[in-house]
Amino acid sequence: MRHLSILGSTGSIGTQTLEVVKENEDARVLALAAKGNIRLLEEQTREFMPKLVCVYDEKPAADFAVRVRDLPVKVVSGMDGLIECALLSGVEMVVSAVVGMIGIRPVMEAICAGKDIAFANKETLVAAGHLIMPLVREHGVALLPVDSEHSAIFQSLQGSRGFAADGAAGNPEIEKLILTASGGPFRGRKQSELAGVTVEQALSHPNWKMGKKITIDSATMVNKGLEVMEAHWLFDVPAERIEVVIQPQSVVHSAVEFIDGGIIAQMGTPDMKLPIQYALFYPERRELPGRRLSLTEIGSIVFEKPVLSELPGLRLAFEAIQAGGSMPVVYNAANEFAVAEFLNRRIGFTDITDYIARAMKAHQPVKNPELPDILAVERETYQFLEAINENR
Ligand code: MG
Repeated sequence: MRHLSILGSTGSIGTQTLEVVKENEDARVLALAAKGNIRLLEEQTREFMPKLVCVYDEKPAADFAVRVRDLPVKVVSGMDGLIECALLSGVEMVVSAVVGMIGIRPVMEAICAGKDIAFANKETLVAAGHLIMPLVREHGVALLPVDSEHSAIFQSLQGSRGFAADGAAGNPEIEKLILTASGGPFRGRKQSELAGVTVEQALSHPNWKMGKKITIDSATMVNKGLEVMEAHWLFDVPAERIEVVIQPQSVVHSAVEFIDGGIIAQMGTPDMKLPIQYALFYPERRELPGRRLSLTEIGSIVFEKPVLSELPGLRLAFEAIQAGGSMPVVYNAANEFAVAEFLNRRIGFTDITDYIARAMKAHQPVKNPELPDILAVERETYQFLEAINENR
């Protein structure tokens, strides 16, 4: 029996994780956590009967407690509640599917408590990978990637010498990681053509159906920048040996080139249930219903080299990696701020990467930031961008 705690259960990954749980009789959900979508959370609670539910925001938490008062479930809220869900006894694996740096503390606490992590919260590794990965090794837990590209790399590494997040630091057989990107809805368009892009246009991803934040991140290519950082931490490979390749059809989910020149890739239809199920039941592969990839129907697979001069979201990520220390925190925090502003229609599409650039330019990186430093840098970045907003 696999006992799970799902943080972010009402989001895209959370709901698909629950679908996978439903199709596997030996998985059981002990805890759920969500931000404030209490209607869906109530449905999930009635169906999966967890012992503990966290509603992050306080007001909906109180409403939720009333709605489920006929059930034997404990309701908690806030960061303390989120951490309680991560630490619940009997839970063997925490599915971290929250959006943003909010996942840092619950993930770190869960690792210290010896829980495995199914990991779908890249912002956490981007900001605190240097704190999280040593904890993973120290406590002997597995940090299993759910992100499709990282799952693809993980799957491609099977039969090789393992990977950092599975306790094997620095696999010497890896020559480089090949991280594929669809290019999003604006692939091939110049920055100058994107100024008037609407929220709706940016939200219409050609291949993947995902949450809003990650869909915008895909359109700006910031998502790929975050994924380069995530891959660096998960697989202990320096950014110079991570190549981003545009694969517009999203059928080659990523690949590994080994030192003998062999390249192993993982392919499939764009369906997050595969990487979710693979992480939940690793090292087992299980039956998964759904559409299958037909190679003859596709006919050919296209790869393109990304043009960094037209992709500030990706270029700034490499600059943040180069600067090191707390600069990736600024890259990520500025993006979280700007995407929320864009979704609320307060700034334009190209302002997102412009805000990231300005915040990075103004920041002096702190070396090896501890958790309080990371949270302080996040706060400062927000304040810096709020000031810019007010002066617009
Ligand atoms: Mg991805």
